[in-house]
Amino acid sequence: MTASQGTTGLILNEPLLWERGKPGRTAFSLPRRDVERKALDPRHAGPGPDFPDLSEVEVIRHYTRLSQWNFGVDTGLYPLGSCTMKYNPKTNERQASLPGFAGAHPLLPDELCQGALELMAHLQELLAEVTGMDAVSLQPAAGAHGELTGMLIFAAHFRNKGEKRTKILIPDTAHGTNPASCALCGFRPVALKSNERGVVDPAVVQELMDEETAGIMVTNPNTLGLFEENIQEVAEIVHRNGGLVYCDGANMNAVMGIVNMKAIGVDVLHLNLHKTFSTPHGGGGPGAGPVCVTRQLEPFLPVPRVVQEGGAYRLSQDFPLSIGKVHAFHGNFGVLIKAYSYILSMGEDLKKVSQLAVLNANYIKERLKDVFHLPFDRPCMHECVFTDKKQQAHKVTTLDMAKRLMDYGFHPPTIYFPLVVHGAIMVEPTETETREDLDRFIEAMRAIAREAQEDPERVRQAPTKPKLRRLNEAEAARRPCLAG
Ligand SMILES: *Cc1c(COP(=O)(O)O)cnc(C)c1O
Repeated sequence: MTASQGTTGLILNEPLLWERGKPGRTAFSLPRRDVERKALDPRHAGPGPDFPDLSEVEVIRHYTRLSQWNFGVDTGLYPLGSCTMKYNPKTNERQASLPGFAGAHPLLPDELCQGALELMAHLQELLAEVTGMDAVSLQPAAGAHGELTGMLIFAAHFRNKGEKRTKILIPDTAHGTNPASCALCGFRPVALKSNERGVVDPAVVQELMDEETAGIMVTNPNTLGLFEENIQEVAEIVHRNGGLVYCDGANMNAVMGIVNMKAIGVDVLHLNLHKTFSTPHGGGGPGAGPVCVTRQLEPFLPVPRVVQEGGAYRLSQDFPLSIGKVHAFHGNFGVLIKAYSYILSMGEDLKKVSQLAVLNANYIKERLKDVFHLPFDRPCMHECVFTDKKQQAHKVTTLDMAKRLMDYGFHPPTIYFPLVVHGAIMVEPTETETREDLDRFIEAMRAIAREAQEDPERVRQAPTKPKLRRLNEAEAARRPCLAG
């Protein structure tokens, strides 16, 4: 071990476990053996894993220290736009770890897991009510997986009608997963240019919508944090031409209990339970991307589906038009429990969640728009998008300012997305932040804007306070050092 233990007070350096320990050290003590030592049958004895020899306290300190380097919503404001990094009430974790749920085996016969099936059936009803849609599948394991499921449903619908449609319209503000999901299902994504207000233009849809186009995949609110104000007109055009409307509902946090998705013309919608409905996410942890559809498309939903018969629940495969299974068993059940717990504990306040999320984003937008360029100066939904246009004069970029925010103790927002905005800085505060924390964030952003003018080099050198300085990202991507 070469580096010293402490760098900044009690923020400790931590070597790899392989660099720690001494041969023969163990994590437990057992009474002395009172039987003779015997060699393993050589047929079963391999070389053995190459694990270091460590004491229990060495292992515990190692992982506890690593956990202290982490930043998460439990540590502070995490304004990552498009990700809805809100605080997740701990009661949800408690419900998800109830032994009856946590210990249930997915192969239990229906009669022995009535509670779990009832939870799924009731959660489907609640999600249908929140979105205004008719029927729900909980199987998809993520937002992108919900998109894929939705596109498979589109394909099954047109196959069933004997129509061959090959294209899907996708606005240029879309999340990258949207065109990918279309392409995976054999559709060709066609880019739709947004208008000067940052939303889809019905005239452009009218021009492109033909008999070979299966429909549109639109995110609402979109990734600029703007409500697609022409959605009804767009949906009418698509429907008139025999197409379907898919809505990427990853931004549902802005409109829960406020927008009825079916009423505005949506045929298929996915939700991100791990964003809107309060499951901790990031780092690729388990998620859930339920798909909500209209009655017309219900026959195509994945199987098995929960059905109720004579007061009991059972899983049914009896849906001949179904696209089949999209995930092992019933999706990520633990995430479903957390969403259920969240919805029941919030009750009617779910609507207030969205109102506060929108209020917080507009507060930040209004308090920063004199120092950062705001490409769309109009009321936003749950997130707002700035750019580095004003700071370019001092050769300070979005990346520099994001890094500098770390010196002020904040996780940076999403940067350089959506791609249609040059140098985008996308802030999503969520509803769970207090006025004081929002003000602290605003003050930090304003201080950085000031520094960009008065001491730009300082911003370009950031970060200076975290454990590591600015990393060589190209090198890290091309030659990752997996050994530590
Ligand atoms: C997060 C997000 C997705 C993808 O969701 P995953 O769960 O990460 O697969 C898709 N679209 C939008 C707009 C998103 O914000």
